Amino acid sequence: MDKLPKCTANYVPLTPLTFIKRASKIYANRTSVIYDGVRFSWSQTYERSCRLAYSLRSFNVVRNDVVSVLAPNIPALYEMHFAVPMAGAVLNAINTRLDAKNIATILRHSEAKVFFVDYEYVHIASDALSLLVAGLEDGSSPQHVMPLVIVIDDLKRPTGVRLGKLEYEQLIHHGNPQYLGEDLEDEWDAISLNYTSGTTSEPKGVVYSHRGAFLSTMSLIQGWEMGTEAVYLWSLPMFHCNGWTFTWGVAARGGTNVCIRNTNAEQIYKSISNHKVTHMCCAPIIFNMLLEAKPHEIRKLTSKVNILTGGAPPPAPLLKKMEELGFHITHAYGLTEATGPALICEWRTKWNELPTDHQARLKARQGVSILTLADVDVKDKKTMEGVPHDGKTMGEIVLRGSSIMKGYLKDEKETAKAFHKGWFFTGDVGVIHPDGYMEIKDRSKDVIISGGENISSVELESILFNHRDILEAAVVAMPHPRWGESPCAFVVLKDTRDTRETEILAYCKKNMPKFMVPKKVEFVKELPKTGTGKVQKAKLRKIAQTLQISLKTTSDNKVSDNQTLYHQDEPENQEKVVVVAMSRL
Ligand code: ADP
Repeated sequence: MDKLPKCTANYVPLTPLTFIKRASKIYANRTSVIYDGVRFSWSQTYERSCRLAYSLRSFNVVRNDVVSVLAPNIPALYEMHFAVPMAGAVLNAINTRLDAKNIATILRHSEAKVFFVDYEYVHIASDALSLLVAGLEDGSSPQHVMPLVIVIDDLKRPTGVRLGKLEYEQLIHHGNPQYLGEDLEDEWDAISLNYTSGTTSEPKGVVYSHRGAFLSTMSLIQGWEMGTEAVYLWSLPMFHCNGWTFTWGVAARGGTNVCIRNTNAEQIYKSISNHKVTHMCCAPIIFNMLLEAKPHEIRKLTSKVNILTGGAPPPAPLLKKMEELGFHITHAYGLTEATGPALICEWRTKWNELPTDHQARLKARQGVSILTLADVDVKDKKTMEGVPHDGKTMGEIVLRGSSIMKGYLKDEKETAKAFHKGWFFTGDVGVIHPDGYMEIKDRSKDVIISGGENISSVELESILFNHRDILEAAVVAMPHPRWGESPCAFVVLKDTRDTRETEILAYCKKNMPKFMVPKKVEFVKELPKTGTGKVQKAKLRKIAQTLQISLKTTSDNKVSDNQTLYHQDEPENQEKVVVVAMSRL
């Protein structure tokens, strides 16, 4: 057996680049990309990618060089997902919501050789480049060479905005349509570089391999049961884990990419109605946007729209409301380091018989491993024992398999920390239910430990979401003189609601064990979020640190502040905990 030949006929490195080559042959005349009235076919998208790859080579872009891009979901960014790796290089799609300093940090850290900038982002890009130059002058990064900057102008109505001499379409024009791309010798070669959004630590550069990207793509089109001829709406940024691999996945299915520059309710409803969208991905935050849309923005769904959601816990009541609107939701869980979704809440037919509330609760669980992952478990980090499948015992979610990143760019220490005893540690705390489905309870850094009791902020938030006046809620730990820490809830009310803290607390007392009841409810206009829509709990924690709780027993049951709160084992009305809001950060 061992003597049988392994040759180019029977062993070809796995890469998503094969998807577009295949699409150009099989789906040549099918629409590949729609954007603002412009349409391309798969043969055109392939040809444009070949041309761009050739032009990149002519700028001396070689294997492992990083090509960065700052652009919304436009055709150019889609094409780059193929063209850049065809040239042997590594695509780095930068989060468009970052500020100039963060962009400069990424350009410096990745040593980007080329930097593509959409015309609308020229200002921020030029600020970032100035910072980069300043760094060079400081001598902080003497080895870094400034990237070649290329502007991507509007396809239909060119603005003439430039940052340097070059424009994207020039590269397409001068490229060679016959160029086949560099031979990929090793599927372990890097295909893309994505920086984490940094909700819990400094952003890190996560490197994906061609093999990992190929397998993850296959898993997700299979797990979501995405058929051929899907019409995929780009409501999820392509810069987020390469659009959870659907940049490559839509090519694999010969689907149509509907690109939109801005993700808002009007654009989403309009695209669904105009192009008969069948699939879209988004974080749960988009649900609120769709549900709270103004009547003139809403278009009634006339056929099924499948949504794959993840990135943050989707509260069960929101899932239910979205399904009532006609969206069919699949819930997935993942992280940048796992090439996007690693678990998917695979639906079981027998659940269709259950009441809708129960269905929504089952769907809010993060689910089971995607097909090409080798294994997933929830473990006690110290003993490395898997937790019992009782839906209660918490541990850290760990993953193994080819979807997991190669590692963090230029960060051996963090890479070694992430890989521990043969597993990738996610930093997320979860449980396993008796049916094998996993459920996230928190991020290890977000768990609130009150008097030795673990409080899951995710669980508390999902109860708060059920309150009819609450639009969004985030719970973090605040210092407590007796219990160490206690929950503090930040709440955004629905428009025109004037609910008071005492009402929210009364609702909490009715719906959760006493120890979980927040000791403070802060009403805010909006929650601080990352570019990918995740609540920045670190910021809220900083505010919560300034909220001082002092224990005070009053004889007449009156408190000097506006709070009257109780802890779990205190008989009601005996001891009052007075919360004094200190100056905010
Ligand atoms: P960052 O860690 O910087 O936020 P990511 O964008 O990779 O970067 O975020 C991944 C994290 O998002 C996960 O570790 C997890 O905490 C959270 N997450 C992702 N999907 C879900 C989900 N379906 N339910 C709950 N949390 C999720």
